[in-house]
Amino acid sequence: MATDIQTAAAAHMDTTSGRRNFLRLAGAGLLTWTPVHRVLAGDPAAPCSPPPGFPGSIPVFLQVFKNWSGEIVLDAVWTAVPKTPQEVVLIVNWAAAAGYRIRARGSGHSWVPILVDPGTTCDTKVILLDTRAYLTAMSIDTTVSPPTVTAQCGILMETLLEGLENAGLGMTATPAPGALTLGGVLAIAGHGTAVPAVGKQVLPGHTFGSLANLMVPMTVVAWNPATSRYELRRIGRSDPEASSLCPHLGRSFVVEATLRVGANVRLRCQSLADIPNSELFAPAFSSGRTFASFLDASGRTEAIVFPFTDESWLKVWTVSAEKPRESKEVGDPYNYPFSDNIDPAIASILGTVISGSGFLTPALGQAQFAVIKAGLFLGNSWDLWGWSRDLMLYIQPTTLRVTSSGFVVHVVGLMSNGWSASTTPSW
Ligand SMILES: Cc1cc2nc3c(=O)[nH]c(=O)nc-3n(C[C@H](O)[C@H](O)[C@H](O)COP(=O)(O)OP(=O)(O)OC[C@H]3O[C@@H](n4cnc5c(N)ncnc54)[C@H](O)[C@@H]3O)c2cc1C
Repeated sequence: MATDIQTAAAAHMDTTSGRRNFLRLAGAGLLTWTPVHRVLAGDPAAPCSPPPGFPGSIPVFLQVFKNWSGEIVLDAVWTAVPKTPQEVVLIVNWAAAAGYRIRARGSGHSWVPILVDPGTTCDTKVILLDTRAYLTAMSIDTTVSPPTVTAQCGILMETLLEGLENAGLGMTATPAPGALTLGGVLAIAGHGTAVPAVGKQVLPGHTFGSLANLMVPMTVVAWNPATSRYELRRIGRSDPEASSLCPHLGRSFVVEATLRVGANVRLRCQSLADIPNSELFAPAFSSGRTFASFLDASGRTEAIVFPFTDESWLKVWTVSAEKPRESKEVGDPYNYPFSDNIDPAIASILGTVISGSGFLTPALGQAQFAVIKAGLFLGNSWDLWGWSRDLMLYIQPTTLRVTSSGFVVHVVGLMSNGWSASTTPSW
């Protein structure tokens, strides 16, 4: 965590206002003793008064916050790191009485300002509770059928999936980055890519759609009118409150969740980059190598379209118990390092485009696609096979820090005469 915070602080200094405020803090002598840009409440040099009456047993400090894409940068926001769910409850009850807001903080990968308002200063009555340091326990129960995993909200998805893999268990689909927290993923109905392939049955303990579909009970911090206090409350899947928690967009505090899980599977992931876009994205019911045909066959596909090119990077995942002869076996996630690290040539064109040379945009799309194809070729990554975690996690925090939005198709009916569907924003 320290590295993350140091990086955030360093990057933060690049902005003009950030530099000004950082210098102000440095001028006040704060940086001589705090290596991670963390200013404890009560320090005489802190720019704001500490939250009055904050539970004395828990340190609260001013901390830089920067979201992953760098669009939300806060010089100093009050932050605490609860060690237990009981500490979360203690802080929430103090906040209710003191007129403060509490927000659960995960890895800060959200693009939208649902964690913290971009205008937040150290005078704002909000406190982030960073869940990643201590709220990370997990346990697996294989005595029930299907098995379940109970995990605290600050656990990273890659740790959760590794624990499941070690127990022979897995999920059908997860978000592509492993550095997200479980709490952050459940908050926004995080998902991977998977719908039932034609003729395929869902395996016991597995499901399609968002991760929240796996939720059995979850433990949240909730108001108890009988005691007039916030308390930990376990909410089951069939409880009326459950529907407003999946997703809740950060307007609740989930301490722990129990999810159904199933037997782990081996996946094959094939990359294709030679199908013309006109064929891949042909109108519905066209013949040929269409996106729909891959989806029907595998249920798991993703296409990345590079502007001003004629083809796309298509990934197709299929369940494959045995290793196909042509596939390369992998034993770890993140098997596309060329997409996790920016090629200097791309960075150079990108910088030129951003600084006003818009006419280079076509060259940028073409260069990006060329780098992907070269990376797939040099890394022999066209056709990979391994445990599901190693194929489902493929984005690292070092990937190009762009802002994106996602949409999910919520299928409300599937009939022999066609699909009835609605789309809603997802990320
Ligand atoms: C490069 C990149 C790729 C991505 N790919 C995918 C993808 O493939 N699929 C997908 O679904 N999403 C994807 N996302 C989006 C990501 O899943 C969400 O932004 C997610 O909310 C981030 O989790 P986090 O741990 O960083 O949470 P944060 O950004 O820290 O918080 C996000 C929200 O979750 C809330 N929250 C966090 N923990 C808790 C908790 N314990 N209780 C209550 N609320 C909580 C916060 O209060 C906040 O409102 C991607 C994001 C990035 C940057």
